[in-house]
Amino acid sequence: MNKILTLFLVIISIIGCKNNNQSVEKTPKLDVEASKKDKNMPAFGIVIHGGAGTIRRKNMSDSLEKAYRLKLEEAISVGHTVLSNGGTALEAVTKTINVLEDSPLFNAGKGAVFTHDETNELDASIMDGATLNAGAVAGVTKIKNPINLALSVMNDSPHVMLYGKGAEEFAKLQGFKWVDTSYFYTKRRFKSIKKAKRKEKKKRRKEKLTFQDFDNFQDPFFNDTKFGTVGCVALDKNGNLAAGTSTGGMTNKRWNRIGDSPVIGAGTYANNKTCAISCTGWGEYFIRGVVAHDISAMMEYKGVTLEDAAKEVIQNKLTKMGGTGGIIAIDKDGNIAMEFNTAGMYRATMNAKGELNIAIFGKDK
Ligand code: ASP
Repeated sequence: MNKILTLFLVIISIIGCKNNNQSVEKTPKLDVEASKKDKNMPAFGIVIHGGAGTIRRKNMSDSLEKAYRLKLEEAISVGHTVLSNGGTALEAVTKTINVLEDSPLFNAGKGAVFTHDETNELDASIMDGATLNAGAVAGVTKIKNPINLALSVMNDSPHVMLYGKGAEEFAKLQGFKWVDTSYFYTKRRFKSIKKAKRKEKKKRRKEKLTFQDFDNFQDPFFNDTKFGTVGCVALDKNGNLAAGTSTGGMTNKRWNRIGDSPVIGAGTYANNKTCAISCTGWGEYFIRGVVAHDISAMMEYKGVTLEDAAKEVIQNKLTKMGGTGGIIAIDKDGNIAMEFNTAGMYRATMNAKGELNIAIFGKDK
């Protein structure tokens, strides 16, 4: 009887141990591994845009599409390398935008559009989400990389925004080289301004419009501009956010028109509490809608997610106002938003693992 009892107890204790071992091995082990992974790989990421507008596959040759995709990949990889080596979000944003500014494909730096007077006037801004410091330049004509000058305004001056000749004098003091204005000439953009002016003249004559009736001529769809402004937002390994935007503005602009891109809160915004945003589109609407700050404010004051805030501001508010364009954004946890109400937007993302995603047209996701 004693033997039977002992055997019974041994069997019970073996079953008990087995069950225990199973539960120890399952869930906790996975949890430990997951948290280890997080420690080794803090969330960081980068998002870029190369402008939004009437970008349709049927209007784009395969070779041009390939060229855009390659340049977007080159640019985002530069910023991603900065971030993965422990560099700051500000550095990643600046270096990434430099690649896009140096390419004739985009309406920034080398590929800037022409004004009505057939000159190039460039705008740019940058913001540091950690300190809420910001720098911007508008209407500069001799600076190869306006985003670098915006950064210098932020770091080396007591101001936020400098304009035109003054900005260029400041640049010289800071050791920037001036480029000849002919540097910004590209055949493609020159053809665009000529075409826009021809169209404008024809419409004025046909409809007997007075000089005051210029509203339509600022419409990017009327003047055939496919936008092309560039922007970048990044989250670095230290949890700091930064945003930057650089542009030639809109084709056929006049009277020293300044768009949203150099306006902090309209075209660019970053705040470590919420997110970093860069906008592209019809600037007048982005200024009036204070688009970039609006998204951040919804997150900060109402606890709305980045995705919902971006959707609300672009698809509801901006669209109702009659504005067109889009935004890219990244939040403090590495969540991303790319929202636009145009046919397409050149865009790319890269996460901490180095996974790349490039898209151009509306249906690409
Ligand atoms: N937002 C820019 C501007 O209005 C243009 C663009 O994004 O393409 O100057």
